Amino acid sequence: MYMKATCLLVLFLSMSAAIQAQTPKEQGLKVINQTTAEAHIAFLASDELEGREAGFHGGRIAAEYIVSCLKQMNISPLGACYYQPFEAYNRERQRRERFQVDRDSVLVIKAEKVHQKLDMRNILAKIEGKRKNEYVIIGAHYDHLGIDPMLDGDQIYNGADDNASGVSAVLQIAHAFVMSGVQPERTVIFALWDGEEKGLLGSRFFTQNFPEIMQVKGYLNFDMIGRNSNESNPTHVVYFYTEAHPVFGDWLKNDIANYKLNLTPNYRPWDKPIGGSDNASFARFDIPVIWYHTDAHPDYHLPSDHTDKINLEKVVDITKAAYLNLWNLANEPTY
Ligand SMILES: [Zn+2]
Repeated sequence: MYMKATCLLVLFLSMSAAIQAQTPKEQGLKVINQTTAEAHIAFLASDELEGREAGFHGGRIAAEYIVSCLKQMNISPLGACYYQPFEAYNRERQRRERFQVDRDSVLVIKAEKVHQKLDMRNILAKIEGKRKNEYVIIGAHYDHLGIDPMLDGDQIYNGADDNASGVSAVLQIAHAFVMSGVQPERTVIFALWDGEEKGLLGSRFFTQNFPEIMQVKGYLNFDMIGRNSNESNPTHVVYFYTEAHPVFGDWLKNDIANYKLNLTPNYRPWDKPIGGSDNASFARFDIPVIWYHTDAHPDYHLPSDHTDKINLEKVVDITKAAYLNLWNLANEPTY
């Protein structure tokens, strides 16, 4: 009798463990790891990529790498191919203005005989949802500041934190969604933006030209998720989100507790999150946003933003937290 009860108990425990391991959400979560984060960041921030400036050689190699990763995951492109090409225009350089992608501004600049033009490319992939025409988007910019041949010493702006860290998160989350093995309720778009450093150009071009922009239910952004702004608080992360959706704050609180993520978020509900990064392009259309950011540091926008200074454990825990956020954005009936 005693033996029998023990056997039943063992059977029950192993069955429940098996059931738990098969939760699709957790099946995806467990593929997010530090080695992969480091592999993406170290490649994108290597000197050979010359600072990934939008419109230049290093930026184009970064794009080829990202597309190659998406193909290996077997994720479909959003359109006919993964690239969304666009042109950015600027006045002659003595005017010291910013590049533009808006149709009206571009027409005015093009009418001037002497002007600048750069060819850029967003990268867009998707996992189609059961509700095909309802979208959630997760994105990070992959461009950075390039090189400055006039600098004395290190001339390459590697941009490990800004924003190879964010690209690693989007790629790992795409892989995790594939590995979960289930179709989300809404279509999930994975976006890697070009031209952010020149004025949020890629996300701006996308939001102005995506015919179903009003069907986008949420946007999750990463920009710089890998540094300790204060060494005494290495788990610090700023969690911005649209104030009208307080449930976004609850989601993160619950997931940190349930999945034992080593993060100390600074929760910042924001009434109009139009500053800082590509989230601004979405907030203009009143799309609810979530934005992860680990704050400024002494290497911000300097050639010393290097891979060896990245807190990889934190990158991975932010990636996991955001994967869980995106799971909710894609599957919760309302929020
Ligand atoms: Zn950035």
